[in-house]
Amino acid sequence: MSARIIDGNVVADRMQGEITQAVQKMREEHGVTPGLAAVLVGENPASRQYVSMKRRRCAKVGMESFGYELPASTSQEELEALIRDLNADPKVHGILVQLPLPDHINEEKILSTLSLEKDVDGFHPVNIGRLAMKGREPLFIPATPYGCMVLLEEVGAQISGANAVVLGRSNIVGLPAALLLIHRNATVTICHSRTRDLPSVTRAADILITAVGRPEMVRADWVKPGAIVIDVGSNRIEDPASEKGYRWVGDVAFDEVKEVAGAITPSPGGVGPMTITMLLKNTLRAAELAVAKR
Ligand code: NAP
Repeated sequence: MSARIIDGNVVADRMQGEITQAVQKMREEHGVTPGLAAVLVGENPASRQYVSMKRRRCAKVGMESFGYELPASTSQEELEALIRDLNADPKVHGILVQLPLPDHINEEKILSTLSLEKDVDGFHPVNIGRLAMKGREPLFIPATPYGCMVLLEEVGAQISGANAVVLGRSNIVGLPAALLLIHRNATVTICHSRTRDLPSVTRAADILITAVGRPEMVRADWVKPGAIVIDVGSNRIEDPASEKGYRWVGDVAFDEVKEVAGAITPSPGGVGPMTITMLLKNTLRAAELAVAKR
């Protein structure tokens, strides 16, 4: 039987519609427009594309966005000074620093300089720390794993008590995804490049989240029949048959795994649109927190 396909675009469009209404209401009731500052350092074309997409989406839901494009030669001190200015700017409710930063910049120090109340990416060590601790709640949840959780809810996943496997342990996806699942009482296994016999681990998963960056690595016989598969992977592969000479695929061999899984996200069109949506949701929340403090 073929799996239910979890369409991230549909969920994202619905949520962005709700966010648009909330933004309008905030403007009418409080005279405040949520604002997101996006800081880009260097010339990485993918990062540039992500930032411009995030800014376009802000405009679409009626938020303000402020772009800061700095040369790769920017010093640690200059970047920290900019973050402090943005922390103090009342028009800026959320700040995102596009990662990765150039090698000479100390990422941890930069993320620690962010005001906790404006850390809409949820990467501040205190936000991540709270995510890791029992009985604590972060102010903001990192957007990509947050989007994964929303998609799990969308298909009515029984998370409590489930065996969940997360492939990948990065700071921005795998690790926070695992922490979120623990918060929801799943039994979680985290896999990485040193894990032995991956297929035997993933086959035990009722819920499988993949964030490895390896094109179509997860095959049909890695997946338990009926499992829910959330594919975060977004990998460009050569494809001479396509017009551009390449196409995007996930970490999961979609065509074969959809014949085994109970529900599955495509990639593209699954987690990707959710990531940006959750960033907008976090920015709205940051503006709401600022309004409540006035
Ligand atoms: P990352 O920082 O490179 O982390 C990859 C993780 O996968 C690491 O923990 C690594 O293990 C593990 N890994 C790599 N090769 C493996 C293998 N052969 N077997 C088992 N584990 C392996 O990547 P990321 O930033 O988390 O991103 C992962 C994927 O998600 C990428 O395709 C990225 O483009 C995509 N992504 C998508 C979105 C979205 O919005 N859709 C957002 C972010 C990322 P070690 O820790 O041992 O090295």
